[in-house]
Amino acid sequence: MDINNYNELLDKAYEKIPENVKRSSRFEIPKVELRIESRNSFITNFNKIINTLNRDKKHFIGIFLKNAGTMGEIRGQQLFLKGQYKEQVLNKLIENYTKTYVLCSICNKPDTQIQREGKKLYLKCTACGAREEIKEK
Ligand SMILES: [Zn+2]
Repeated sequence: MDINNYNELLDKAYEKIPENVKRSSRFEIPKVELRIESRNSFITNFNKIINTLNRDKKHFIGIFLKNAGTMGEIRGQQLFLKGQYKEQVLNKLIENYTKTYVLCSICNKPDTQIQREGKKLYLKCTACGAREEIKEK
């Protein structure tokens, strides 16, 4: 078989794949699993969340705690938060972080890296090659 024909066939085959299959590697952040103990909160699946986000723990925690308006720290596999929180509130904070620091604003894929240049942060996408300045909120 001619190699050009072969590539053409591949392209055609790919076009026939439904959109939802192409996106089978859809990015989903695990929902917060919360344990309240003596009026403090523990995110018990924190490791799973941070592994999915694939970001530096310190970077995430710094922004997350600031936006949650509390203090906290990693305790083993868990993230300890001072005060009582609701799952929805924490999920929302994680979602906001993800939009700003994980998902490419062009192709919406999570295959990105944070690059620092002086005081500016950039999100470099390895999927589509875009490089956008991160606008911190
Ligand atoms: Zn991209």
